[in-house]
Amino acid sequence: METVSAYFGSLVFDDRVMKANLPAEVYYSLKKTIDEGAQLDLGVANAVAAAMKDWAVAHGATHYTHWFQPLTGITAEKHDSFIAPSPDGGVIMEFSGKELIKGEPDASSFPSGGLRATFEARGYTAWDPTSYAFIKGKTLCIPTAFCSYGGEALDKKTPLLRSMEALNKQALRILRLFGNDAVKRVYTSVGPEQEYFLIDKEMYDRRPDLRYTGRTLFGAKPPKGQEMDDHYFGVIKPRVAAFMEELNEELWKLGILAKTEHNEVAPAQHELAPIYTTTNIATDHNQLTMEIMQKVAAKHGLVCLLHEKPFAGVNGSGKHNNWSMATDSGVNLLSPGKSPFENAQFLLFLCAVIQAVDDYQDLLRLSVATAGNDHRLGANEAPPAVVSMFLGDELNAVLEAIENDTPYSGAEKMKMKLGVDVLPAFSRDTTDRNRTSPFAFTGNKFEFRMLGSSNSIACANIMLNSAVAESLRLYADRLEGAADFETALHELLRETIRTHKRIIFNGNGYDDAWISEATARGLSNYRTTPDCMPHLLDRKNVEMLTSHGVYSESELHSRCEIMLENYCKAVLIEANTMVDMAKTDIIPAIEAYTLDISKTAAAKKALDAYLTCGYETKLVQKLSALTEQIAARAEELEAAVVALHTTEGIIAEANAIRDTILGKMSELRVACDEAETLTAKKYWPYPTYGDLLFSVK
Ligand code: ADP
Ligand code: MG
Repeated sequence: METVSAYFGSLVFDDRVMKANLPAEVYYSLKKTIDEGAQLDLGVANAVAAAMKDWAVAHGATHYTHWFQPLTGITAEKHDSFIAPSPDGGVIMEFSGKELIKGEPDASSFPSGGLRATFEARGYTAWDPTSYAFIKGKTLCIPTAFCSYGGEALDKKTPLLRSMEALNKQALRILRLFGNDAVKRVYTSVGPEQEYFLIDKEMYDRRPDLRYTGRTLFGAKPPKGQEMDDHYFGVIKPRVAAFMEELNEELWKLGILAKTEHNEVAPAQHELAPIYTTTNIATDHNQLTMEIMQKVAAKHGLVCLLHEKPFAGVNGSGKHNNWSMATDSGVNLLSPGKSPFENAQFLLFLCAVIQAVDDYQDLLRLSVATAGNDHRLGANEAPPAVVSMFLGDELNAVLEAIENDTPYSGAEKMKMKLGVDVLPAFSRDTTDRNRTSPFAFTGNKFEFRMLGSSNSIACANIMLNSAVAESLRLYADRLEGAADFETALHELLRETIRTHKRIIFNGNGYDDAWISEATARGLSNYRTTPDCMPHLLDRKNVEMLTSHGVYSESELHSRCEIMLENYCKAVLIEANTMVDMAKTDIIPAIEAYTLDISKTAAAKKALDAYLTCGYETKLVQKLSALTEQIAARAEELEAAVVALHTTEGIIAEANAIRDTILGKMSELRVACDEAETLTAKKYWPYPTYGDLLFSVK
C-alpha cells in the first residue's frame, strides 16, 4: 500500500512538477504570473504546454479539456485529443501554448441571460494559471475562465478572480497605512465544509422524485427520525467507511486536502471538510469534490445527494464557508495578534467585515439563494434567512469598550492592557462557539453558514470579497487623508461599531423572538429566492459591484435573470414530477389496495352475512376520499403550472411560483403522505423514508 504522501497530488501539475519539468526561466516567469498576475508571453505558454502534455501523457492522458464553471452551477468540459497526424501515417501527441491559453467551446447552450445571442455563439475559455491543471480519467483538465467575445463573464470564476483582486487592492492600501510595506498581495482563504446524504442506489432508482429533482417530493415521516441524535459523530458504517476511504484517495490524488469527515445530525448524513486554501482554488476543489463524491458513491452502489433538503422533516444539508484574509507572507489579517499594534490592524479588518455584512446583507443572502436552499433558510431550520453576525463575548466586550470609550473591564482576566493610546490588546479565544449564527467569528476566521450543500461557493465569496473591499476602500479613503492616523483610526472604529452593531447578534438564531427583533433592528429577512434576487439590481449594489470591477452592469442583469430562471425551472420540474407520480403511481397503488380491501369485505360477507366489516368499510371510505383529493389536487397543480404561461417576465413568473405553485405542491403532498400511512407497504410504489434513511449498513 502506497503511503498518502507518495500519491498526494500525483494527478496535479503542481509546483513540484513544474519546478522539475520546466526550464528555470520558464518556471520563474510562470511563477510571476501566478503570484503577481504578470502578463504571460506565448513563448512561456508553449514551453508550459509542452511540459504539461508530456507529463499528462506519461500519466495516461489522451485528451485535454478547458475545464470551466458556467452559470449552471456545475462544471463543464469539452474534450479534444492530443493526437495529430505525423507524415509517416502515425500520430504524435501535440499541445501548443495557444491551445493551453485559449479555447473556444460552443457557448450557445450555456445560460447567458441574454448576454450572448445564439447567432454569435462563440465564447472563449482562458487559462487560469493560478489554479493547477489536473488529470481526471484520461483527460488533462485545465482550469479556465469563460467569457463572451464582448469580454463579458459567462462563468463564476471570472467575477471571483475579480473580487479577489478588488479586495487585494484595498487591503494593501490599508496595510500601507499601518506601515506594512513588504506585503505584495493579500489573499482570501476558504475552507468549505460540505454536507451530503448517502443512500442506497437501488432505492434511489425506484424514486422518480430523487432521480428528477434530487429530493423526495413525497414521503411520510418514519417512526424513527433524528430525534435520538445517535447518528451525529456516531460510528461510521462499513459501506460508508469504504466510500469515504476511496473518496479520500481520489481527492488526495487531485491534491485536495480532505481532512475531516464524520456523521452529521440526520441519519444517512455526513460531512467532509478540507484544509483551507486560496478562494479560487478552494472553489475549484469544492466543485471537484462534489463531482467525485457522486462518482465514488456510484462505485459503491450508493448515491450521494447534494440537495439542500432531500427529506422533509429531516435536517437539510449546507456548506460552511470558513473565510479569512491573509498576506503573501502568511499573516492572517483576522487573527487578533499579540501586540497592540497588530490588534489595531485586526480591529480595522474586523470592522470592515462587520460593515460589509451589514451594508450588503442582501447580497450575501441572494448569493446563496436557490429553490433548494429556500427549504433551509427561513423555513424553521438553521440558519434563518436573516443575516446576522456572532462575535462572541470577549470580542463583543472589546467593541463595546471602544464604542463607549470606556476601559475594557475584562482586562485582568483576559490579559488585556491598553495599547497604542486607546486600543486594547487581547488574546484570541476559540472556546466560545455559537452554532446557530449565519456568520460567526471563530477565533481567526469567519464561518458563513448559509450556503446550500449544492451551491458553488463562488457566488458567496464574490459578494463577501467585494463587500469587504468596499468597506476597506471607504476606510482607506478616509485614513489616507487624516492628519493624525491614530485618532482618525480610533474614531473610525468607534463610528463603525455604532453604525453597524445592529448586525451583531450573539443569541440563539433559531429562536422566533430573534426574527421579530431583527425586523425591529431593520435587518432584512428575505425568505425566498424571488424575494431576494431582484435586489441584486438595487442601485447601491450595482454601484458597489461595478465600481470595484467585479461585474459590469449587463453581467448583473444577466445573472439576476439566470438565477430566477434556474429557480423557476427547478420548481416546475418538481411540480411536473409530482403530478406525474400522483397520477401514474400513487393513485393506481391506492386503488389496487382499496379494491383488495373491498374484496376482503365482500368475501367475509359472502361467508357470513352477519360479519361486521367496520374496519374495511372505514378504510375504503378514507382511501376513496383521499384518492378524490389527490386527483383533484394534482389537477389543480397541473392547471396552475399551465396558467404560468400567461405571466410576463421572469420576476412575475418566479413570484407566481412562490405564491401559487409551492402551496399546491404541499397540499398534494399532504394527501399523498396520509395515503401512504394507510396503504399496506407492499402496495406502495416507492421505498419509504425509513428504507431510504436507514438501509445503508
Ligand atoms: P471547526 O471547529 O469549525 O471544525 P476547524 O478549525 O476544523 O474548525 O476549521 C473548519 C474549517 O475552517 C476547515 O476547513 C479549516 O481548514 C478552515 N479554516 C481554518 N482556518 C482558516 C482560515 N484562516 N481561513 C479559511 N478557512 C480556515
Ligand atoms: Mg465548522
